[in-house]
Amino acid sequence: MENEEIAVQQKYEELLEACKSVQQLSVEDENNIFRAFTLARNAHADTRRKSGELYIFHPLAVALIAVKEVGLGPIAVVCALLHDVVEDTDITLENLNSIFGPRVARIVDGVTKIDKASMIAEQNDDFSSQAENYKKILLAMCDDAYVIFLKLCDRLHNMRTLQSMKDTKKLAISSETQYLYVPLAHRLGLYSIKTELEELVMQYTNPDKYAEIAAQISKTVGTELKLKECFTAPIRELLDEHHFHYTIKTRVKSVYSCWKKMQNKGVQFDEIYDLYAMRIILDVPETEGMDESEQRKLEKEECFKVFALVTSLFHPQPARFRDWITTPKNNGYESLHTTVMSPIGHWVEVQIRTTRMDRIAEKGMAAHFLYKEAHPDQATQNSPVEEWLQQIRTSLEDPNKSALDLVEEFKETLYTKEIYIFTPKGETIKMPSRSTVLDFAYAIHSQLGEHCIGAKVNARVVPLGYRLHSGEQVQVLTSQKTFPSEEWLSQAQTPRAKEHIKDYIRNKKKEYREAGEDKLRDFMKRNSMRITADRIARLKRYFNVDSDTELYYRIATDAISEEQLKQCFHLEKNAPNMLFLRPFQDLFDNGTTTPAGSDTKRRGLKPPTISPFLTDSDHENLESQPAPCCKPVQGDRVIGIVSGDKIMVHRTNCPNAIHEMSTHEDRIVRTRWRPGEKIAFLTGISITAIDRKGLLQELTRIISEELDLNMRAITLEASEGVARGLLMLYVHNLGDLDQLMGRIRTLEGVEQVQRV
Ligand code: MN
Repeated sequence: MENEEIAVQQKYEELLEACKSVQQLSVEDENNIFRAFTLARNAHADTRRKSGELYIFHPLAVALIAVKEVGLGPIAVVCALLHDVVEDTDITLENLNSIFGPRVARIVDGVTKIDKASMIAEQNDDFSSQAENYKKILLAMCDDAYVIFLKLCDRLHNMRTLQSMKDTKKLAISSETQYLYVPLAHRLGLYSIKTELEELVMQYTNPDKYAEIAAQISKTVGTELKLKECFTAPIRELLDEHHFHYTIKTRVKSVYSCWKKMQNKGVQFDEIYDLYAMRIILDVPETEGMDESEQRKLEKEECFKVFALVTSLFHPQPARFRDWITTPKNNGYESLHTTVMSPIGHWVEVQIRTTRMDRIAEKGMAAHFLYKEAHPDQATQNSPVEEWLQQIRTSLEDPNKSALDLVEEFKETLYTKEIYIFTPKGETIKMPSRSTVLDFAYAIHSQLGEHCIGAKVNARVVPLGYRLHSGEQVQVLTSQKTFPSEEWLSQAQTPRAKEHIKDYIRNKKKEYREAGEDKLRDFMKRNSMRITADRIARLKRYFNVDSDTELYYRIATDAISEEQLKQCFHLEKNAPNMLFLRPFQDLFDNGTTTPAGSDTKRRGLKPPTISPFLTDSDHENLESQPAPCCKPVQGDRVIGIVSGDKIMVHRTNCPNAIHEMSTHEDRIVRTRWRPGEKIAFLTGISITAIDRKGLLQELTRIISEELDLNMRAITLEASEGVARGLLMLYVHNLGDLDQLMGRIRTLEGVEQVQRV
């Protein structure tokens, strides 16, 4: 016990030491770290992890990873120490808020929310509810970049100590790591963490293959030594001769990336040609009086000089040359890559970069973030991490996207590739892959985007939505008569263009407001009414619009016609529409249950003219109809499900609908009843009764005379004294139906009345 206490103390001191070696700590920082440690130590008290180790070792280890392996500062250390106290102990967020301030509380809250959501996701096989949970994870993550960094540190430590968990838990945590945390580490540029996570995931999910490849790699130790002699040594000699200051690092490919290459390229282990890689990191000191662009130019020249020296010694493979210095990757990565043949017949990849480039390469996007955190007083622009989070936040706010879409889209942003487009003047513009002409136009100038009608791509005319390819030269074509419209939103891919288009439409709608108001006032006057708040509310309900602006916009642009306005205020007598449901046609076509006279009745039915349902604006153009399985009637709570080119509207408790909703979340359409429509719905009621004389007559009398409902068909069969009947009839709403069912239940001998 005492030994343990000493070990805890030692770990804490190691942490403090590590913090100090990364940056100078103020007295306040040091106090905060101490308070966080003490609080966590006491809160977790004697709790132990599955491995038997005291729980406090976990937050200490996470904090150490944050400092040593990511390079984060005091805030991260405090939050790392506290990251599990809210979830696992009596400490509340309010406690943290009052001791450490709102930022620490918010970050810990984010980490806690992620833990909760992933726990639910773990226990759930169903993909759409998993997506729902991933969405929660993303929401929590976007709150503060620290939440992501800490969550990655936390996950790394959990993966390192997964051994003591149950096998199912190992698999669940590993697959979540592969699905979410590996891509995140990649996107942030935390490459060593990414590699380690991948290695760990493979050890748990594919242990046999892992062991097999690891064994093959360890057999190549001899080759590595030989390479040092006949490859690294001559390069060193030559670089020294030319007075370069440099560091050389060599690495053998990780097990996971060997395996991935074998899978992707369908090659054997011996055929992997970049098993060995060498990195030459050049020290290019900053020259006094040189501005940044001159310094960058110098760095580039030095890298190319080294490239020339290396390829003078060893023959390069031209197809494997990459110049990420002239055009850096969008995560900021800069480096020269070449693959050369070594004297012992192995290809070796050589990466050439400067110390500055190496820092960015090792930490990627994180490097920018860390720099900004370390220099809070410098007014730097948003770091790429923050820009990226902002981009995710914007797309999470889009109410028209399902959780599934959002997660897919998010995954896409993790692997965004960039393309390079040339302007007519030959300048390069970096765009995300999948960008269209419209995106490009907006990227150059919002004015250009607003009037864009297409472009000349390599002298060929293409439309707005044309997807650009790297290396194309694009001349945007404009017309002063062209303006953004709703359709443009589907032609643009980048958040920047979409935001501009939305802004434009929003402003336009405001402008139309006045015109719409005039038009409505005029209409009201002609029908001797005045605009009142009640009437506006009624219009909004009827046409399913959220805001006054939207309503006036639609009236001004005739999206809502005068006819429709009349209908809303019942100024036009329209006969109730009949709905005829296809599936029931069979009921009457099939000889056994055909009641007399059905043919003449059918001729009197009209197909529906207006759908009884209102759906969200994305699905307005789809025809919606009641689902034949649960036959909703007005008043039932309903949900629409896209099926082919139609929306089938189910009752929300319909088993078919529940199944569909859980598996195809993307097909769910918010649907409600169009208010005020007098439509009759065909519905069915089954009856079980003790058979007696006169039952049929009584039923028909109640329906047609007493309740004045339109009956479609009635069948009644009796055997062994029990009568089973099926009534098909039209009702206007749930009220009608309940009344009828209640009335039938009061009949003598009736045992059961159910909706079909
Ligand atoms: Mn944890």
